[in-house]
Order: sequence, then structure tokens, then C-alpha cells
Amino acid sequence: MVGMRYAEVAVDAAVAHSRTFSYSIPPRFSVEAGQLVWVPFGRRVLQGLVVELVGMPKVPETRAILQTVEPSPLIRPHHLQLGRWISGHYRCSLFTAIAPLLPPGFEAHVRSRITVVPDADSKTSNLRPESADALAKLGAKKAGLNEADFTKLLGNNGNRELTRLVDKGLVRRRLIMPRPTVTPKYEAFLMPSPQVSHDSSLSARQEGLLAAVREQNAPYPIALANKEFGNGVGQALFSKGLVAMEWVRADSARIARPSPEGGRQQHTLTSHQSDALSKITEALDDPKIKPRSFLLHGITGSGKTEVYLRAIDQVVRQGRQAIFLVPEISLTPQTLERVNAWFPGRVAVVHSRLTPRQQFDQWWDIREGKYDVVVGPRSLLFAPLAQLGLIVVDEEHEWTYKQIETHPLYHARASALQLGRITGSPVLLGSATPDVETYHAATRGWHTLLELPARVSAGPDRVSRLAEVQVCDMRRELREGNRSIFSRVLAQSLQDCVAAGHQAILFLNRRGASSIVQCRDCGHVVTCRRCSVSLTYHSTQSSLLCHTCNRRTRMPSTCPSCGGTHIRQLGAGTQRVVEEVKKLMPEATVDRLDADVTRSGQNTEETMARLTSGDTQVLVGTQMVAKGLDVPNVTLVGVVLADIGMYLPDFRAGERAFGLLCQVAGRAGRGEAIGQVVVQTYNPEHYAIQAAAAQDYSALYEYEIDSRREIGSPPFNELVHLVFQNRNDDQALRVATETGRTLTLRAVAQGLTEIEVIGPAPGIPSRIRGRYRWHLTLRGRRLLRFIEGMEFPPGCTVDVDPVHVL
Ligand code: ADP
Ligand code: ZN
Repeated sequence: MVGMRYAEVAVDAAVAHSRTFSYSIPPRFSVEAGQLVWVPFGRRVLQGLVVELVGMPKVPETRAILQTVEPSPLIRPHHLQLGRWISGHYRCSLFTAIAPLLPPGFEAHVRSRITVVPDADSKTSNLRPESADALAKLGAKKAGLNEADFTKLLGNNGNRELTRLVDKGLVRRRLIMPRPTVTPKYEAFLMPSPQVSHDSSLSARQEGLLAAVREQNAPYPIALANKEFGNGVGQALFSKGLVAMEWVRADSARIARPSPEGGRQQHTLTSHQSDALSKITEALDDPKIKPRSFLLHGITGSGKTEVYLRAIDQVVRQGRQAIFLVPEISLTPQTLERVNAWFPGRVAVVHSRLTPRQQFDQWWDIREGKYDVVVGPRSLLFAPLAQLGLIVVDEEHEWTYKQIETHPLYHARASALQLGRITGSPVLLGSATPDVETYHAATRGWHTLLELPARVSAGPDRVSRLAEVQVCDMRRELREGNRSIFSRVLAQSLQDCVAAGHQAILFLNRRGASSIVQCRDCGHVVTCRRCSVSLTYHSTQSSLLCHTCNRRTRMPSTCPSCGGTHIRQLGAGTQRVVEEVKKLMPEATVDRLDADVTRSGQNTEETMARLTSGDTQVLVGTQMVAKGLDVPNVTLVGVVLADIGMYLPDFRAGERAFGLLCQVAGRAGRGEAIGQVVVQTYNPEHYAIQAAAAQDYSALYEYEIDSRREIGSPPFNELVHLVFQNRNDDQALRVATETGRTLTLRAVAQGLTEIEVIGPAPGIPSRIRGRYRWHLTLRGRRLLRFIEGMEFPPGCTVDVDPVHVL
């Protein structure tokens, strides 16, 4: 049809990546790209996002868009482009890729109600008895029934039967397209209308309100009018044309706390800092500078945050906005305070503790340009900033930047680089221990490498020394008769530290009172029956907990395998470490920080505050203590057992152990006193321990990059991880094996013999929440092209560029 317009729509259905569907646009409404609409899809009605307007549909027959969800577009073109990239790269439907870009609360499903057609009784002959029954029950309900409930009444093949009943004209289907659960909140105001003529028919209350509105120099809130003069009085004046009414979107409460001291600390930058900053400035000023991404590599305390803040400041001065991504918001209170102090009142802190209402209001405030800087976790990359100027990814090596549970399985760092490319914004990646892949990319010139090789201290030209790291061989301690969880060195250092009025942190990358439970007679380790991971002993409930499915069981008194009585917990958890510290120093104030404490509702920030204020003398914690803390009086860090996590069958295990140890070590000696770090281990020769002890990133990098080149791990190859889950173990294994075979044949048929199909292997854990897990790993180049068009079986999760391969 001439002049007809069509929309390409990303539909909220399980469809192939990047796929859109053509719909016609009814002449009665205007539709734009980025707008959310309701569309018919098969027999359903779904939400969809208009991706582009076209003159020609992709198919000869199109159906029409039913309704718009919001009158104007929600998503801007650069974000649509980002959504397309995420859909294509991470293999999810375009709608799934775009959903994180929508305001919170906008995803909704249509509800469908079934009612009886009144005069249809005569046609009910030759119906199935169940259908006749169901019709009778439906007839008794005036408001009808939800489609799902009615289908249940119809019994087997209820869906097909329902279609027949609709076709026969016996029942009617009515669709309810819900409004978003949260919508902008408006406040109404009354204003004097230019019409001055007096209406003598006004009631006393109407007279009173009219006078009040005319007297007030500012718009008069209708809420106040209702309170003072009664409900409906304002509305009556408005109907008579005596006042005008204005709707203003209600202002949300400011989330950013103004800084206590306020203002910026004016440091003189070190020469390394100013070199780094000037490189970034060049890119901010000149859109042609390439590359537009930077890796800021500097040990903790080298002044990276200072560089981020100055770069953001320049962006803000140019009238643009910055995104500042952090791995986890609750662990960075000090960083947040510094950002707030630099940009008072102009910082939006996005985190999951906000109510849906606050999240929603914040989304619109960001969109309306009320903030210059937005700080938050990975999903913040999708904040609707209009004039993006810079993206900072702090601690870029953190694997929390990858979404692993729900689609899209995107990596925020890779996606940030993509958004940077789309918008021309520089991307600043920062880390003390960069991801080996990121560093490799920098050595190839894909990012500009900026190094901050030394710590800054209070004075601009003084450089405080790194903590001294001592590796302590626990096998020797045992041989020499020390059965305590503390080596003699650590015990002595703890006592000295506290006696000197300093503070200490003890680190353990595992929570619970004590770790695995093992039989000393036969070596059996007690595992979760559902998840097959080892259980952890918790002394408070004297029970065993599965850290995968959260199931709790009683501590056995005899070994379930051999019946022996020498069954007990091995290794130590944070609670046990706290007890040992108290035994060693009964007077000391000991605090604990781990996921258990956080989950029990206690505030991480309060624990941090107690440490910062000096109340806590010894803090015992898991990886949560490894990050962000900057307390000058902490002079000792003890790593109770460094081995945990080093032996996972994941090619990144060594890199992660190194990163964690370095971060923990970085907690010591941030002030003038030199820090001391004691690392206890049963394997002092391990390369990750050696490199961490020397705080030598390049040693770690060289070792890693050589071994990865040899094995063919990333960055020398790409990975796609396929996880098959099923309640039936054999079934899961069978589907995984079949898929593996299909992929192998496909590689052979395409002559891509260098692509490897690894597995299937049981996952670690091999079972989660009653579902067995088997996995396959694809390794090679151009894997996306290789799997293009592949249909993966149900229950199979495709994870592109996985961060875990277990
Ligand atoms: P990082 O982010 O690398 O851990 P920070 O930027 O937090 O490092 O800097 C560490 C400490 O040094 C902070 O307390 C910061 O205020 C201070 N600092 C940073 N740059 C300077 C400087 N040029 N002169 C003096 N102090 C500085
Ligand atoms: Zn379990």
C-alpha cells in the first residue's frame, strides 16, 4: 500500500538472536524507533520494541501493532545499537538484549480473560463432557476466568480446545495489556487563570481556594488544595476555567549524600598521574585519537581513582556525562564519598537496595540530565545518559562484571568498549592486577597502556613502600609440632600489631565456622546429596550447609562411608578464625565480615566504619575485605590459607588467586607505617603465590601468557561454554554428547579442524538445585560465525566468552 509504514520489532519471545519481525503501523498512531509497543505474535500478544521504521516489510503479510505502551520512545539510537551488538555477540533474542535498557518495571506480560458468549447455549451439543463442564463453570463467573485457569478446566489439550471454542463462537477472549507497574508520578499544581471575570455561583470553599491560588506567587499544589479546602474543590474551579492546572513529574528524593567535608581535595598530581591524565585528555578533546580505550595499571594506592575523578571532571566541564562502573557498590563507600565530594549533588548512585519507585524515578532523572556522574555495578552501563562522554571501569579484572545467571550473559567490560565505540566515548579500564586478556590487548596496542608504578603518599613527592610479604610454609609448621591455624610468625605479628595500637586484617576466601568435614580414617568428605559439593560446618547451628543450594543438614557423628568416629571439620572458616584470635588475645576487639554476616542483615558499611574509626582491632573476612578498604592504621594482613581456590579446574584459577592475594596485601600499610603481610600455604612453590609474594604482576603475566599460548586458552582462542541441565542425569549427558557430536561434524564439514569440542564433563558442582549439569567447551577462532544458525536443544545455556568454565 502506498505510504504505508512498517516497523521492525524485537519481540519478547524466545527467538533467534538479532531477529526482528515486521508489523504495519496503523495510521491512527505515530510510532518511532525506540518505542515499546504491544504486538500480536502467533496466538499471543507480547511486548516488543520498535527497532527501526521501514518502507517495506520483510514478509508479504504483516499484522498491525496493537497499541503503544508509552507515547514516546524510551530507548535512544546508540542504545539500540548496543542492544543489537549484545544480542548478536551473546546469542540472546534482541528483546532480551534490550530489556536491561528499559526503565525498571516496564517488562510486562499481557493477561487474557475468557468469558462466555451469552446466547451460545444452543450450540453446546457435541462438545466433550469436560468442555461442557468447563463452560458451565465459566458461565457462573460474571467476570470470566484467566485464560490459564480456564485452559486447566478444559483438561488435556486445553489450548487446542480453547481455540475451537473461540472459533465456534462459544467463548470470547479479551486481552488486558497492563500499564507498566511503575509509571512516572505526577504532581498537579493550580495556577491563576488569565480569565478574571468573577463567578458569583462559587461556594465559600471555592472562593477561598481561588483567593489562595491568586495570592500565591508560585503554583499552588493540588494536594494542599485538597487538604485545606476539600477534595474536588480545585477540580471544580478548573472546570469553570477559573484556574489553570499544570502537571509536573514529581521530583524523586536525591540519593546522593552530600559529602561530610565537602569539596575536592586538591592534590598535586604525581608525574605518572599527570602523564596518564594528559593521554586521556587528548582523547577527550580529539575524537580522532585512536585507540580510545585505556588500561590504567597501578598498584593499590597508586592514585588511579584520582585520575578517574580528574578525567570525569573534564567530561563534565564539556557538558557531558560519565559512567563509573564498580564491581560491587557496597564495597566502595570510600570511592563513593570521593566522587560525591567532587561533584556534590550531581552523582546518581545506582544499587539494588533502592525501592522500585526510587529506581524508576532515578532512571528518569538520569534520562532528563539531572546527573553528571552515575556510579554503580555492571547494569549501570545501560543508564539512559544522553551525552555520554566517558566510561570508567574500576577493577576491570573483576569477574562480577559478567552476568552469569540470567540472559543476556554479557560482560560489562566488553559491552562498555562497544558502547564507547558507538558513542565515541573514551573507555578507561583500571586495575592493580589487570585481567591477563586486557593486558595482552594493551600490549598489542588495542588499548593505550598507562602505568602508575608507585604508591602515592601524603606528600606529593614521597612514595610509601609496599608491604613486605612473607610466605609461610604450613607443612613445616605441622612437622615442627604447631597444630594451630596460625603459624608462629602470624601469631607473633598479630600480638605485636595490636600491642602497638595498629589494626590487622585476617583473610580467608571461604565462609562458615570451619570448612569441609572429613573422615580421618577413610578420607571421605561429606558432600551435599543434591549438589555434590562439599558441605561446610557452621558452629552456631552446629550444622552443615551447602553453599550451592543453601540446604542445611545435621553434623554426622560417624562417617557415612566407613562408620568411623574420627570425623571432623578441617581447615578453618571465618568464625573459627575469630575464635582463635580471641583465644590468642582475649582483650582484642574482633569483627567479622563475610557473606553470612551481610545476609543476616548486618550492614557492610557499618563493619567498614568500625574498622575505619579504629574500634575494630582485628577484622576477619572473606574476599569482601579484599576490596576497596583504605585504612592507614592497618599494618598487618594475614592470609590464613592461600591454597583454597588455586586448584579449581579453571584456566583462570591461578590468575584469580594472584589477584586476590595482591588485593589483600594492598590493604596493609596504606599510611606511613610499613605494612606486613603473612601468607600461609601448603604449597609455597605455586607460581601464583610466588608472584603475589613479590607483588610482581609482570611475573604472573609472563607465566600466564606463555602457558595460555601453549594450551590455546584465551586470549589466543575464543571460548563458548555450553551447559546442559536436566533433572535426569543420563538425559543431560545424552543431550550434551549429541550436541558435542553435532558440533564436531559441523566443524569437519566446514573444514574448521582447529575448532575443538571439549567434553562433555560433569559441571562443578555437578548438580545444582536438583538439576544435573554437564558441560561442553568450544575452543577456537571465530566461534560466533561457526555456531551461527545452530539450534541448541532446550535446557542448554550458551555462554559466549565465559568467565567460569566449570
Ligand atoms: P588507587 O585508586 O590507585 O587505590 P587512590 O586514587 O585512591 O589510589 O589514591 C590513594 C590515596 O592517595 C588516596 O587517599 C588519595 O587521596 C591520595 N592521592 C592520590 N593522588 C595523590 C596525589 N597526587 N598527591 C597526594 N595524595 C594523593
Ligand atoms: Zn546443595
